[in-house]
Amino acid sequence: MTEKCGVVGVSLDGREAARPLYYALYALQHRGQESAGIVTHDGFQQHSHVEMGLVGEAFEEDDLDVLKGGAGIGHVRYPTAGSVDSSCAQPFSVSFKSGSLGLSHNGNLVNADEIREELAALGHAFTSDGDTEVIAHDLARNLLEEDLVRAVKRTMQRIHGSYALTICHDDTVIGVRDPVGNRPLCIGELEDGYMLASESAAIDTLDGELVRDVRPGELVVLQADGDGFDSYQLLEREQTAHCFFEHVYFARPDSIVDETLVYEARRSLGRKLWEESGVETDVVMPVPDSGRAFASGYADAASETTADGESRAENDDGVEFAEGLMKNRYVGRTFIMPTQDERERAVRLKLNPIKSTIEGKTVTVIDDSIVRGTTSTQLVQLLKDCGAEEVHVRIGAPEIVAPCYMGIDMATREELIASDKTTDEIRETIDADSLAYLSTEAIAEVLGTKRIDLCLGCVTGEYPFDIDGEATDRDVTRPDLGGKTLHADD
Ligand code: SF4
Repeated sequence: MTEKCGVVGVSLDGREAARPLYYALYALQHRGQESAGIVTHDGFQQHSHVEMGLVGEAFEEDDLDVLKGGAGIGHVRYPTAGSVDSSCAQPFSVSFKSGSLGLSHNGNLVNADEIREELAALGHAFTSDGDTEVIAHDLARNLLEEDLVRAVKRTMQRIHGSYALTICHDDTVIGVRDPVGNRPLCIGELEDGYMLASESAAIDTLDGELVRDVRPGELVVLQADGDGFDSYQLLEREQTAHCFFEHVYFARPDSIVDETLVYEARRSLGRKLWEESGVETDVVMPVPDSGRAFASGYADAASETTADGESRAENDDGVEFAEGLMKNRYVGRTFIMPTQDERERAVRLKLNPIKSTIEGKTVTVIDDSIVRGTTSTQLVQLLKDCGAEEVHVRIGAPEIVAPCYMGIDMATREELIASDKTTDEIRETIDADSLAYLSTEAIAEVLGTKRIDLCLGCVTGEYPFDIDGEATDRDVTRPDLGGKTLHADD
């Protein structure tokens, strides 16, 4: 399971944007490793450098030197919609009659094909099959007739799906978040300007201050003199649909997403996991690195109460927290392994157990999710081979039963182990002594929100968008495209 993209944008007074963007992309590298790119504007012309590879591989010193101008946007990408090749690498840039546009997109449109067909019929030529180019063409077309704010609103009224966008229109940098705020985007203040980023960790990297999240349906326009930003609430919905997996898995633990520090959210989810399904074992250990905060919260809660919810006796320390698995950081992430056989080998390469913390003990191992079940099966086997007497598995999220259409590369329904197996059947498959997941109610409680204000599509099979052949969890329909290009609803 992997996040798809990270976006960033800066507008600085008297300083080149390229290096701050480069550093910010480093901070967002976990959100995409396939390609990296930066587009800047110097007030006269647009400059672009987009390459396949990690941020450190995509840019040489010279590349940054030619990216002139104090305004710019950046992007790291792992592909979801569109081909796995350089034609879909971003930022996407285009020049048209009334200027230039650079676009960075995190998310996925579910009606991109309809809009592409419509625009192609009007004479637009597309160079990729990605949805970002569709947004760029739609916006460019609207900019021929409208000012920036009205043009963005018109495009927002036509596109349906998840998007957090940073856009460079000539030397104006803007940020846009879809009306339900599915993907994260925040605003930061720097010494000499303002920035936008998928995660606040990118703002920290530039010694900036997090101002706030971009609101769902909001357009933020960074002022060119670096003095501030203007806000336009262009679309409003009754409910939000924040992706809960940002907190569970995707975002960096040191990021604040939708006003919640991800590390604290994960610790609290770990505490909930103990309350809901704690089991008294000798040790609890995380699957590194993603399970660490959950396991530490779980062990904390276990030191206060027993699995039955009773207060601990004074001489009872609860379940010991131990680092029983070491991660080899130089092995590729399992999801890029194309065959099942290679994936299985990768788990063995990636995790090495510390025998003394496992041998002869009852063990609880905590992870953030089970996708195909391959990793969990290997892991339980690994711990048993190391002499664990019992292996109990606890997961800091509910069962993933359905795919994601909002820009997360997850797996097909057929590949998801929980799509057609009960929890006990999964337990049997992975050969654990017990298995428990966190409830959706616990997620909503920890994130301090109502269930309906979260996207829970992949764990309920009901989505906050109108997706062909899938159920929805709210009253939602795709925009009617007819005529919107020519007649914007003010
Ligand atoms: S379906 Fe799941 S992964 Fe995708 S946006 Fe919704 S909660 Fe996030």
